[in-house]
Amino acid sequence: MNLVLFGPPGSGKGTQSERVVKQYSLTHISTGDALRTAIRNKTAVGLKAREVIERGELVSDELVTEMLREIIRPLRDTTDSFLFDGYPRTTPQVEQLANLCEEFSLSHPAVINLHVPEETLILRLTGRRICADCKATYNIYFKPTRQAGVCDECSGPLTKRVDDNPETTRERLRVYHEQSAPVLRIYGEQGVLYTIDATGSTDDVAKKISRIIEENY
Ligand code: AMP
Repeated sequence: MNLVLFGPPGSGKGTQSERVVKQYSLTHISTGDALRTAIRNKTAVGLKAREVIERGELVSDELVTEMLREIIRPLRDTTDSFLFDGYPRTTPQVEQLANLCEEFSLSHPAVINLHVPEETLILRLTGRRICADCKATYNIYFKPTRQAGVCDECSGPLTKRVDDNPETTRERLRVYHEQSAPVLRIYGEQGVLYTIDATGSTDDVAKKISRIIEENY
């Protein structure tokens, strides 16, 4: 089984992906995480992506698809079940993912769309904090740490993603509506799209995702 977790920034794709991959033995590929790693390691991809991400825009389809191909290639020897988190994000990427599925003999993915109202997304993004050491995520509005700025799990310092500031958040949501939301129409027409209300607790949303997977796959 292959799955796409789709949704606007702040809809909980990363959090839910971590649970779904464990439950269904899928291999998690987050293009956002891969790009952030590339930026940290100052690779050629990272150097091209850094400013684009900091502006809240999308990295070019060619760059991100090529990066994805190189991530899948070595993993494909040991698995044929992936969870794509944050890809596809444009209509050309829908076709590019279909081509990658053909190239690597993968079944075409089901798509779960996490729907969250805009006001909640803004609070989730601007309030998000991440532990620099263990990567646990918090939110100053919804899930604060016991001591401000200090991770509950490991006492590491909390950091913010560079693109979680208010200005970039607005731009990321604008870009989502303009370039990513049209992806939903295509998958809807293909009959592989499942939209859920993703405003509840992490557990509630995880249950909804499991129900879709178990009823359909
Ligand atoms: P994310 O962690 O999924 O929110 O991604 C962070 C940023 O990485 C996005 O705002 C984009 O700039 C870039 N990015 C991640 N995935 C893609 C993609 N599929 N296509 C283009 N840009 C992407």
